[in-house]
Order: sequence, then structure tokens, then C-alpha cells
Amino acid sequence: MKDLTNSKEFIRRHIGPSDEHIKTMLSYLHVQSLEELIQKIVPDKILEKEELKLDDAISEDKALKLLKQIVQKNKIYKNYLGAGYYGTITPNVILRNILENPGWYTAYTPYQPEVAQGRLEMLLNFQQMIIDLTKMDIANASLLDEATAAAEAVALCQRINPENLNKIFISNRCNLQTIDVVKTRVEPFGLEIIVGDNDEGLPKLDNLLCAIVQYPDSLGAIYDLKQIIDIIHNKKGKAIVVTDLLALTLIKPPGEMGADIVVGNSQRFGVPMGYGGPHAAFFATKDEFKRAMPGRIIGVSVDRKNKQALRMALQTREQHIRREKATSNICTAQALLSIMAAAFGIYHGPEGIKKIAERTAGISNLFAEAMQKNNFKIISQHYFDTVTIFTGDETEDFYKKALAKKINIRKLEDSISISFDETSEISDLKDLFEVFGINEKISSETKIDQISKEFLRTSKYLTHEVFNSYHSETEMLRYLKRLEDKDIALNRSMIALGSCTMKLNAVAEMIPVTWPEFGAMHPFAPVDQAEGYHFMFNDLSKMLSEITGFSGISLQPNAGAQGEYAGLMVIRKYHLSRGDKNRNVCLIPSSAHGTNPASAQMAGMKVIVINCDKDGNVDFEDLKKKANDYSKDLAALMVTYPSTHGVFEEKITDICKIIHDNGGQVYMDGANLNALVGIAKPGKFGPDVCHMNLHKTFCIPHGGGGPGMGPIGVSQHLEKFLPNHQIIKQNSGPSTGMGAVSAAPWGSASILPISWMYIKMMGAAGLKKATQVAILNANYMSKKLSEQFSTLYKGKNGFVAHECIIDLRSIKVETGVSEEDIAKRLIDYGFHAPTMSWPVAGTLMIEPTESESLNELNRFCDALINIKKEINMVKNKVFDTNDNPLKNAPHPFLELSADIWEHKYTREQAAFPLQYLKTNKYWSPVSRVDNVYGDRNLVCSCPSLDSYREEAA
Ligand SMILES: *Cc1c(COP(=O)(O)O)cnc(C)c1O
Repeated sequence: MKDLTNSKEFIRRHIGPSDEHIKTMLSYLHVQSLEELIQKIVPDKILEKEELKLDDAISEDKALKLLKQIVQKNKIYKNYLGAGYYGTITPNVILRNILENPGWYTAYTPYQPEVAQGRLEMLLNFQQMIIDLTKMDIANASLLDEATAAAEAVALCQRINPENLNKIFISNRCNLQTIDVVKTRVEPFGLEIIVGDNDEGLPKLDNLLCAIVQYPDSLGAIYDLKQIIDIIHNKKGKAIVVTDLLALTLIKPPGEMGADIVVGNSQRFGVPMGYGGPHAAFFATKDEFKRAMPGRIIGVSVDRKNKQALRMALQTREQHIRREKATSNICTAQALLSIMAAAFGIYHGPEGIKKIAERTAGISNLFAEAMQKNNFKIISQHYFDTVTIFTGDETEDFYKKALAKKINIRKLEDSISISFDETSEISDLKDLFEVFGINEKISSETKIDQISKEFLRTSKYLTHEVFNSYHSETEMLRYLKRLEDKDIALNRSMIALGSCTMKLNAVAEMIPVTWPEFGAMHPFAPVDQAEGYHFMFNDLSKMLSEITGFSGISLQPNAGAQGEYAGLMVIRKYHLSRGDKNRNVCLIPSSAHGTNPASAQMAGMKVIVINCDKDGNVDFEDLKKKANDYSKDLAALMVTYPSTHGVFEEKITDICKIIHDNGGQVYMDGANLNALVGIAKPGKFGPDVCHMNLHKTFCIPHGGGGPGMGPIGVSQHLEKFLPNHQIIKQNSGPSTGMGAVSAAPWGSASILPISWMYIKMMGAAGLKKATQVAILNANYMSKKLSEQFSTLYKGKNGFVAHECIIDLRSIKVETGVSEEDIAKRLIDYGFHAPTMSWPVAGTLMIEPTESESLNELNRFCDALINIKKEINMVKNKVFDTNDNPLKNAPHPFLELSADIWEHKYTREQAAFPLQYLKTNKYWSPVSRVDNVYGDRNLVCSCPSLDSYREEAA
């Protein structure tokens, strides 16, 4: 029968190879069908015999309409809730050209700097903006949210703690979510945490490790921060200041008052609230602590031609190398959102930003003055955008009156707090006055006399040329395009990064993200206003639960590594609840991602490494022995499945049994879920917890290094320990839970529609087929490349899972051509390199995903095969050992077009080694970037323009 509906159309658009091509590839692998292929690869014991119980696939159009109906249940009230989240206006030029532009949102973390100069430049701009506004020495290129940034600041203090100080003060004038997340994070370390008052609590303490204060504080007060910081320093502590970027344009920055670490949220720089995220938190510190900083830092280096080039600094301290010694477990951060915030700073410039700040402060001044005139008492005389009013017995009354007018105000015990922002208008005051029953004529003139002179900022900021050049839309548009064109993202060619799952991020999935019904919702708005969101959360949780086989889901962790941390904390709680206080040993195979040991360490666990055998599997005997040896103290095993070696280990069920028999729990790293959806359920084959990287398997784009989402699934016995939230208790997790891991109750809620749309449009059959084809594509490539490159690990029947590691070590020994040379040469062919030297040094890990067509797979294989020819030419001395296209790759356009060409091969050999390049060529903007130089000469702020001029001269 002919299917005349279009309900399955999305499936064939998401899956690259056509059915015809799938047949071709299957016969190339000598199997009859996708089912047979999977049977030959996946252990029979875990293979699901039944279809997923999900709705049938629906078309793009239908899914969008359905979601629109759902989201319209959200009620968007006028928002004055503040507490770290504010209304903002995303400039349209940024909305369309960054947030809605695959050239930006589909890029990967800039590990290959030569193809990432555009986003590296924007991330460096972000760092510069943070440095300027906070007046600190150095800033990173984003953390997940303000609360975790504060927790990371405490962790930094722990790392540099010379005297084993163990007392942490946290001001009760910090946002509640910050206090909460910090409490969760320090709990496993037995540190003493004192929540108290700046003026009364703090001075009584001694021997502090650090103190966290907020400035302006959560209720809006601006106070003498210098005095507080001096007190903290007198007590040996490091001063951590949570602050607000917009306020810092008017008030004295913490860096001028001796702060050691400054953190906060950059959300109000043009990034919608999105019911909690994603937005970029910032982290800035003093020069002396730079090597202990968490997260990614962008630095200035030079390329082979001594031309200035950017790169991620201190890359070697990244988590997969440092493992449990890592500075944090942050992998996916908030790159795209920090790029947006930087663009906001650039587009408005110092004057424009200041104007926004002054308008905001002016309106809050008008409001406060009127309230005082009408005998209301306000809490602080010095404030920026937030006015807190004593309301005593009438608090509830005012609050309800506001709700009736569709206004959200922040209700406290006996006061009400009102936060103004960029979207506030003087005309809005009328409604507010009515809430408080006052009748005040509203003047159209504002003044800002609420900040006393001693608190005013006198230093300049955003003086760098980049913040003073692109204020017209035309200029901005072109600047963004210029940067975008420097980079390779998925809109140019396949990005076969093993373990990262760079699949299609369909436009239909992305469209809802910028719907105002999702974007304009404050995370602490009353739950009954967010009915649309909650409907979607429930629906998505149910679907993820069906897919993974886990009964409990938490949507709070906002990256995979946060999921790991949350899952391990759940396990920790479980053991504690049974009186097993000593269970703190975490077994981790040597093939694990570096975030695993880093997360285990954060959960207070001791990492014991399990070896791998020669086939890349967990060394079963070693596991048995260590599980036995540590039986009394065993907390957990962290295992990635299918493994990072690209195989489905046959023994997975036995491995889980051994752990359980020894009293431990099994944490499954679900980064490779793309090989499991629809064919096996982790909740049914042994693991007790797993995280899902929604930005891998479930289509959230990588954004150049974030955002992401890392919800966790747990078995029933662990459900009561899932994360919860103190501010929004309803629907956010069990009251018996482990506490908060993110600032917002549902993490980066506004990108969840992407995964929801994906699952709806694929349905059970589509999802299963996607998994099958992902595995087919990987096996096709492994075989197609087999004459030139051998695949390091294979499972039973000689197949791989959804990715394959090609071994380049013998090539290096025989010819001197390294994995890096090959990775960089791929750039000349227009490709981003696969994952390099992880999990095995001297290899490339290729993961094509189901979204790449046979054509593109062939194009990529042809490039690698031709590179092998070039390697052979080096081996056979046709090419010089040192001066050859591989060693000198990539070839930037300046070098290729220069009058002088002194290489022992031709320009054509360098630039056009294959025919397709003559019609489809990526021009590398720089040559190979010098990593060592960049780390020795760590510069993490924008270079002065003079340095560019000198270079051009
Ligand atoms: C990506 C990945 C992680 C970390 O996930 P993030 O979302 O980047 O924090 C952990 N383990 C493996 C195997 C991964 O591939």
C-alpha cells in the first residue's frame, strides 16, 4: 500500500543514506539487513526484542503545530523577579545571525584552532568583556550557570588551600540558588559552611578558606564591598564575589577592591531567560590563580608563520588528560551563549551598554522615590535595578494583587523585591503603583542619584577597538559573517568527532527555541504559569524513560558531566541512607572520558582505575579482583557503553553483576547512547544510573562548546535521591533528594524542545533506524578505510559499534607523519578532524552518525585515502621528509597565494589534492597554531590593535 501521508518524511531527511544506499552499504558489509547487522554486533543478551512504546512519527509541520499548542499554555507575565535572571532584548542581528545560524550553533568546541578562529575570536571578546567589567586579570570562556560558577570558585580555593582551612562563609544576601548549589557541592568534603550576615556573621569567624558575597546583593543593595573584602582577607580567606555585569557599568568593579574571584551570569546581555537557561556564567580571577582556573580559557598564540592565532589555552590540562587531577569536570560549557553575550557587548558598545544600565537604574529610582513618598520603607538606599520594600503583613496581599494584573514580583518573608531590566518602561510603573495602591504622577524624567558617589565606577571599560567598531547593523552583520566564514561547522562538511555525535540539528527542532513563550519565562515564575513547559518536561521525561528503561528522570543537570556528578551523588546518598558511610571507591576503566574521574572526585569518591585488555574491553579479571579487594568500600563503577573504544562489550551484564555482588552501584556514561536507542535499554541490562547527552544523541547542537543538557535516568530504588530545588519545589524533584546541582530547577529548559521535537518526528521506528544506520555508517567507513588504516578495536564478528578508532601509530614510526599532521591535512581537504588521540594516543576516532549521506562518507573516506597516498609519497621519498603537504598543513590562503612559494611540492598539490576541492574549497585563515608558545606566553585578553598592525607591516 502506498503511504500518502508525510508523517515519515522527517525520518528520511534526518537519516543521511537513502534506502537504496543502505542496501548498497549492507551488501558491501556482506549482510542482508539492518536487523542482521545489529544482531551480529550487539550482544544478544541485551538486545531488545520489542519496539519502543512511543507515538508514531509525525511530520515537521505537525510537530511544530503540536508544540505550539503546548507552549501556548505558558502564561508570560510581566516579570520583576530578578534573582539572577532578567528580561533582555536580543538584538535581531544577533538573533538571526548567531542564535538561528547553523554556522555558529552547529560548530564544535574549538579543539582544532585552525578551523575555529571565528568563534575563538568571539570567545576571546567575551573574556575581554568580563575582564573589563569586573576589572580582574583573567576570565574563562564560560561556565554553566552562576551558582555552579560560585561552587567552582570554592573548588579553586580548595585547590590552592595551603593551610587546610575548612571554613566557608556564604552570605545570606546571595541568591538562594547559589547558596544551595554551593551547599550540595561542598557536602562530600566535610567542609564547614556558614551561611550568615555580611555585617554580623562574617566578623565573628576566623580561619576562613573563602567567603562568597553578592554585590549588588540579592535584594539589590549596593554596599561597601571593599570593607567586606578586607575583613575576609584579614581572616585568611579568599574573597569570592557574585556580581552583575550590567550594574558594573555604573558601580565600582570588584577587581578594584581586591576580590580574588568574581563570578556571575551574563544572561542579561541579550540571552533570553528561557525558564532557566541556557546562559553563560562567567568566572574571572587574579593572574596568580590562572593555572588553577576551571573551564576553558581562550589564549593568543602564533601560527607556524608567526602570525597571531587563537587557541584554547592550557589545553593539556583539559579533563581527559588531567582526569581526577583536573581543575573541574566541565566539558560542555556555554560557548554559544557567551558568544551571544559578547556580541551584545560589541553591538551596543560601552556607551550603549551604559545607556541600558542608566535607563534601568533610572526607572528603579523613579519607582523607589514614589514608593518612599508614599511612606513605604525601602531596604537599601543604594541600589541599581532592584528595589526591596518592607511590606510586613501586607506582603501576600500585594503579591496576589500583582498576580491578578499578570505581574510577577518577588515575595519574601515580610518584603517584596522588584527588579527592573532592559525591557522595563516608565509606563510599566503605573501598574506597579496600582498594586501598591498608590497614585503617583509618573514623570518622564529619570535621574540616578541612588548610588552614592563613593560607589560609582570611574574606570573605563570596553575600550578595545572591537567594542567600538560595529554599532551599525551593516557593520555588525559583516563582522559576524567574517568570523563565521573562518570556521568549519556542520553547514560546511561532516564532523566525524568520535564520542561527540555531531548529527543533524534540524531547523524544525531549532525553531521553537526562539519562541517567546519559551524564551521569556523566568525560572522562578510560579509553576502554574509554566504549564506548557511542564507538559513538555513530563512528555520528554516519559519518552527518555521508555528509551533508557530507567523509571526516574531528572532534567536538572545541564551538561553530561553534570549528569555524571548528579548520578554519583545519587549513589552516594543511596549508600549513606543504608548506613554505608564508608562506600567511597569508584572504579573507572582506563578508557573512560576524563570527566568520569573528575566527577567522581567532586562527589568525594576515590578513583581506582581498571585496566583494559588487548581488545579494548574492560579487563574482566582486573575488575573482579578490584571489586573484590575494595568490596567493603565499593561505591560505584563508571562504565561507558558501548565503550569509548567503539565496541559493545559482551560481558556488560557480568560486569554489572560483579559490582552489585560487591555492594556497589553501576553508573553508565550514556554519551554513546546513539548506539543504543531502540535496540537496547541500559535500565534493563544492569546499570543503575545513566546520563543522556541531549546535545549528542538527541540533537541539541554543540554551539561551539555548549550549551548542552545531561539529564539522568535512575532505577526505582534511586529515585528518591534525585536532584531537587529549594526555590521551586513543585515538580522539581523528591524532597528526600540530593540537593541542587544547577541554578535552575530544570537546567537549560529552553533547549529541551529540540530533543522533544526530534523524538516526536522520528517515532519508535525512526529512532531505531537512526541507531542502526549510525552503526552501519561507522562499519562502512571502517571497512572502506581498512586497506589504508586499520581499525584498532573490533567486537565479535569483526564489527565496530557506532564509531571506530583508526590506528596511526605505525605510520608515525615508519614515516614520521603524526596523527596531528593527518588531522591538520584534513583541513586542506575541507574537513574537521575526527577526535584525535583520545581515548588512545596516536589514533583518530571516527563517528559519522546516521545523518551523513553515503556521498559525504565517501568524500571523507576519499580524503583520508588520498592522505594515505601522500603519506606513502613521504615514505617513498617522493615528498621531502620535512617539507611536505602533511607537515605544513593546513595551508592558509595567504601562503598559497603569495608571490614566493618555496616548498618542495606545488601549490596545486597543497591546495587541490582532490578534484572536488576546485569547486568546494575551505580556505584556512591561519597555518598550524603553535600550542607550546601559547601556553608559555599565556595571553587571554584581546591583543591590542597595534599588534595586528605591526604584523601587517
Ligand atoms: C561528551 C562526553 C562526556 C561529557 O559530556 P559533556 O556534556 O560534554 O559534559 C562524558 N563522557 C563521554 C564518553 C563523552 O563523550
